[in-house]
Amino acid sequence: KSGFVAIIGRPNVGKSTLMNHLIGQKIAIMSDKPQTTRNKIHGVYTTNDTQIVFLDTPGIHKPQSKLGNYMMQTAESALKEVEAALFLIDASEGLGGGDRFIIEQLKKVKTPVFLVMNKIDKVEPEQLLPMITQYNELHEFAEIIPISALKGNNIETLLEQISRYL
Ligand code: GDP
Ligand code: MG
Repeated sequence: KSGFVAIIGRPNVGKSTLMNHLIGQKIAIMSDKPQTTRNKIHGVYTTNDTQIVFLDTPGIHKPQSKLGNYMMQTAESALKEVEAALFLIDASEGLGGGDRFIIEQLKKVKTPVFLVMNKIDKVEPEQLLPMITQYNELHEFAEIIPISALKGNNIETLLEQISRYL
């Protein structure tokens, strides 16, 4: 199985930490070279039977400049290039304006979106369910997966769920 997966999320939610964790294990290639004009390769996760190319999708973030505005227009087509998108959130902070903006972009495509709730090592378990309810009201997510990118909690489950969409 193989395919492309976009990693999306506002700054500081843990995108790089998640990639580093995967790289520490099984990443074969790390590159900043553009894969297309719209997506940038973060890393390639490879096992005997699976290859997942993780991509950065800059156009989906809130525009900070004219260039950002231009990239916004490509966000929709960038999301169409992937088998699934991981929408990373900081579960210790919860829903914010940056998240709402990204969700609006995600609604434009039919690409399955995972709600990946990161930093669960900093969160009381009973806080998760109300937060899930809040996000679910905004968008229908294909999967909801709590992880800790820092501690490595539940990363195997995340990878297993991704491969179901490849
Ligand atoms: P990015 O901007 O989305 O790439 O976020 P980073 O990967 O740079 O992480 C931002 C900060 O959050 C760093 O200080 C990380 O160490 C921290 N961080 C990332 N993942 C976790 C996690 O699962 N648990 C905790 N406690 N901190 C995390
Ligand atoms: Mg980063």
